[in-house]
Amino acid sequence: MISKHSIDLPQRIIIGEDILDNIGEQVLQIFNKGKSVLILTGPNVYNKYFNKVKESLEDKGFSVSYKIAGSPTVDYALSLSEEVSKDRFDILLGLGGGRSIDLAKYIAMNLEKNFISVPTAASHDGITSPFVTLRGFDRFHSKPAKPPKLILIDVNVILSAPRRYNVAGFGDLIGKYTSVLDWRLAHKLKGEYYADYAASLALMSARHVSSYAKEIGVGSKDGIRVLLEALVSSGVAMCIAGSSRPASGSEHLFAHALEMISKNPPLHGEAVGVGTIMMSYLHGKDWKKIRNLLKTVGAPVNAKELGVSEEEIIQSLVKSVSIRPERYTILGETGLNEKAAEDLAKNTLVI
Ligand SMILES: [Zn+2]
Repeated sequence: MISKHSIDLPQRIIIGEDILDNIGEQVLQIFNKGKSVLILTGPNVYNKYFNKVKESLEDKGFSVSYKIAGSPTVDYALSLSEEVSKDRFDILLGLGGGRSIDLAKYIAMNLEKNFISVPTAASHDGITSPFVTLRGFDRFHSKPAKPPKLILIDVNVILSAPRRYNVAGFGDLIGKYTSVLDWRLAHKLKGEYYADYAASLALMSARHVSSYAKEIGVGSKDGIRVLLEALVSSGVAMCIAGSSRPASGSEHLFAHALEMISKNPPLHGEAVGVGTIMMSYLHGKDWKKIRNLLKTVGAPVNAKELGVSEEEIIQSLVKSVSIRPERYTILGETGLNEKAAEDLAKNTLVI
């Protein structure tokens, strides 16, 4: 008998120009007039886009309130969820980069509200995925959530985001080269469920951006569009798999460890990119190719460019395996000891 597998997908994804100016119209196509929308956003994005979004929504008969999002930790998400549970609203709209989107997704799930994802940078694939990543005290928490009902991506907004954010999105996608290898390994060694279609879809998003590395690096409209489509399809791969497996393996464990350990943490996708160089080496793959792709796009390839210390890289490699013990990867059950971690980082020119 084939086991039951259900797939939740976003209802509609719109990528185009001038989406933010007409956001009310887009929301009206999915939701009824008169609904109230709570917007979760960061301080910079608030200054830049909030009034435009509010006016457009009010114009179409929605009522709008907002909250400025803080740090995406488990404790903060819970207290914010508690705080807004007293407010009356029907739809939670995440407007911003990773933090606003993740928090909005989490709270929407907690309070059983509809969720709209409106990313203002192409920095990671959480903009479409049905998973939310929050920082806990000693480890990362990735919780299943519902995928966004509606995803609205304004290419012009993404183009005007700091280049560093979009380059980080490239790093997050390059990670699929090793996450898929880790998934296959877990399937072969641990009998874990593996879905070839979802794996291929994730891998395709990495290959697609690889062939557009130059365009993405210079931030051309074509390059950014490809980057966005690849981020969306990586998120959809997670929806299909019903797990973050296709998009998150050992390179992500390293990235999460570095984000926790480092005094001056890099962007998520930047850390994933460097993690992918090192995990490709462990998998016996062409790590230089990954390094060259990251260099082409202008992403960090070593400790110095990440703005972290060599010791932080080594300690993050050692810690990686304990970030998510249930996720079997090339790091095995015990991970790397200090000597092996140092050798790995040195051999791949990360330190
Ligand atoms: Zn990621």
